[in-house]
Amino acid sequence: MKLVLATNNKNKLREIREMLADTQIEVLSQKEAGFDADADETGSTFAENAAIKARCIRNMAEETGISCCILADDSGLSVDALGGAPGVYSARWAGEHASDADLIAKLLHEMREIPDGRRGAHFACVMCLITPDGEEHLFSGKVEGEILHEIRGENGFGYDPVFGYHGRSFAEIPAEEKNAVSHRHNALVQVTAFLKQSMK
Ligand code: IMP
Repeated sequence: MKLVLATNNKNKLREIREMLADTQIEVLSQKEAGFDADADETGSTFAENAAIKARCIRNMAEETGISCCILADDSGLSVDALGGAPGVYSARWAGEHASDADLIAKLLHEMREIPDGRRGAHFACVMCLITPDGEEHLFSGKVEGEILHEIRGENGFGYDPVFGYHGRSFAEIPAEEKNAVSHRHNALVQVTAFLKQSMK
């Protein structure tokens, strides 16, 4: 089965590919499938934004007569002490073209006076799957951790260097370990179970 990922984010693509490597599902990026899109994420929830991204590719597929499964991932970091921010604004919180370093610098600044014990946070991921017949399905995943006081580790992407998980940052643990516990993993196992069931 071919699954087109409605994203231009290389890191999400890499992680989803790694996680689906030992399945029968062939993962194509939207670019590889011939869709050039960058949907405006105007929703106020992860679910709305995931659906916007998936529908954008679905519309293009319909126009060109291509039949495929489409999967979009909308994800982000929610910090308890910041009332759930940056949330859906995780990628844009420090300006439209902010780098990961800019985003982390802003987060550490906002958290500078928050003591240990009040630095809880979680990553959330909502995936929207559109099947070839046009049905939409949402799946969500979450992982709890805490915001560290400084960056640690070289792996991963985004906020991984400041996301503490059982004593290490997400950027300190190997990719396969992150991929076994992450918010993205927790959503994707539900997607694969659904796809396997519907392929029977
Ligand atoms: P969007 O889903 O494209 O709106 O952006 C999600 C943003 O949330 C990313 O650009 C990262 O900043 C952050 N994010 C999502 N998932 C992860 C992750 O697994 N690790 C670190 N940061 C993440």
